[in-house]
Amino acid sequence: MYLGKLVEVAPAGELYQRPAHPYTQALLASVPVPDPRVKQLEEGGLKGELPSPTADIRGCRFCSRCPHVMPQCQQQEPPMQEIAPRHFAACWLFKA
Ligand code: SF4
Repeated sequence: MYLGKLVEVAPAGELYQRPAHPYTQALLASVPVPDPRVKQLEEGGLKGELPSPTADIRGCRFCSRCPHVMPQCQQQEPPMQEIAPRHFAACWLFKA
């Protein structure tokens, strides 16, 4: 969930093994690794500003921080769609 909207839904095993949405990937990349020799990425290496949750956001809510942002992302909110059996994501990277 990002700014109050579901961005990806899948069975837990599938989600952890094959995260599809860039935000889910960033979240999982930010999980601490209990090994001091492993360099940790802060927030999965996300850059950009978190928009105000009360702002009227046009397009994808994650576009100000997404490393894969495209022009379409800033114009239209991506629909939630099934990208694999029982695996859903709201992202234009997976347009049908
Ligand atoms: S719709 Fe675009 S901005 Fe949003 S997560 Fe997908 S690629 Fe990134």
